[in-house]
Amino acid sequence: MVEKITLSHGSGGRLMHELVDNLILKELGNSVLREKKDSAIFKIGNRKTAFTTDSYVVNPLFFPGGDIGSMAVYGTVNDLSVCGARPLFISLSLIIEEGFDRALLEKIIKSVKLASKKAGVYVVTGDTKVVEKGSCDKIFINTSGIGEIYYDGLSVENIRQGDRIIISGPIGDHAISVLSKREGIEFKTKVKTDSAPLNDLIYRALKASKKVRFMRDPTRGGLATTLNEIARGAPFGISIDEGELPIRDGVREASELLGFDPLYLACEGRVVVIVAKEDEARALNAMRRHKDGKDAKAIGEISADYRGRVYLNTSAGGKRIVEMLSGEQLPRIC
Ligand code: MG
Repeated sequence: MVEKITLSHGSGGRLMHELVDNLILKELGNSVLREKKDSAIFKIGNRKTAFTTDSYVVNPLFFPGGDIGSMAVYGTVNDLSVCGARPLFISLSLIIEEGFDRALLEKIIKSVKLASKKAGVYVVTGDTKVVEKGSCDKIFINTSGIGEIYYDGLSVENIRQGDRIIISGPIGDHAISVLSKREGIEFKTKVKTDSAPLNDLIYRALKASKKVRFMRDPTRGGLATTLNEIARGAPFGISIDEGELPIRDGVREASELLGFDPLYLACEGRVVVIVAKEDEARALNAMRRHKDGKDAKAIGEISADYRGRVYLNTSAGGKRIVEMLSGEQLPRIC
C-alpha cells in the first residue's frame, strides 16, 4: 500500500512527531533543528537570536474573539516568547484563493495591523500569491518571526523533580470557539478564543523568577500533548491534578456534548510554565497581575514516578496515564 499523508500527520500529535523525526529531522537535521524548540535558537555575532515560522489555515477565518490575521501574528510571537525571546520582526506570506473578497482581505490585514501593534512587533517582509479557485481554501497565511533572547537557558534539561507546573489560564477556549463557529453550534455558555500575545505575560513571569525551567504554549494537541512532549524520554514523570485544571463551563459543556477531552483541545494564548517549587508563588503572582494570566493556576508537578509519562490524579482518587494526542480530533483549528 502506498503511504499517504493524512490529517493526523498535521494534528501536532503522535503521527506528526513520527513524521518530523523520521523524515524531516532525518533528512534535514542539524544541531539547531534537532533541539525541536518552539523557536530555533542560535547566535548572530554575539547576540542570541530566536527564529520561528508557522502557517495558519484555520477554518472559519473569523471566530468569536479572533481571526486568522491576529492569530498569525500571536502564534509566531508566542513561539518566540516561550523561548525567552523578545519578539521583534515578523514576515507575512499570504496564499489567497482566486475570487476571495477584497473587503475580507482588508479586514484580515487590519487585524494583522492591530495585533502587531498589541504585540509590539513589526511586519517587515512578506509575500502574496494567488492560486486558482479550489487550489486552496480562501486564504492561508504563513508568518515567521525573529526575536532577541533576554532569558537564557529555558530547557527541558533544567527541569528537576518537585518543580511545579503552572498553566496561565483556562484550557480549550480556542478550539471550542472555532468549532462552535464552524459547525454553527450554539452552547449555553459562549466561548471566546484565548488567542493573545504572550510576550508581556511571559516577560513578567521571567522577571519575577530566575528559576523558570521551561515554557511551551499548548497549541495543537492541547495540554496533554505539550506535557507529553516535555516528559518524552525524560528522567521524570509529570503529574497533574484533575481537580486543579482550569476549564470553563462552556468548554466542559461543549466537550461533553461532542465527546472531546479538554486536555487535548488547542489553546492559542496560554502558556505552560515549569518553575522551581520555591518560586511557584512568585511566578504565579506575577502572572495573575496580567490580564491574560489572571486565572493562572498550578496544576501539578514533576515527579519521580512514571518516568517519561504524564499521569492524571483523577478527582475520583485514581491515576490515569495521559497519552499524547493520537489521530486528529479537530483539523484546521489554527
Ligand atoms: Mg509553540
